[in-house]
Amino acid sequence: MDRDSCVGSGACALFEPAFFDQSEEDGLVLPRVREAGPEALPALRAAASRCPARAISVVSLDGHDGPAGGARDRTD
Ligand code: SF4
Repeated sequence: MDRDSCVGSGACALFEPAFFDQSEEDGLVLPRVREAGPEALPALRAAASRCPARAISVVSLDGHDGPAGGARDRTD
């Protein structure tokens, strides 16, 4: 996740509140989790696709972008 790119639209927190929140100070995204299992991939991918700033990236921990891999939101 790239907070520098976040524009505070809130789409991620609205649609996927289990994974995302927004700061009360600046309105920017706050991740609720850093890593999630493969069951979270659809929700995380949906959040990434809805983000108007493309601030959310979903990467597989095993290097594959498939449902068999774990997922995490990238913070670098
Ligand atoms: S959807 Fe994107 S721009 Fe909107 S709050 Fe979430 S990370 Fe920020």
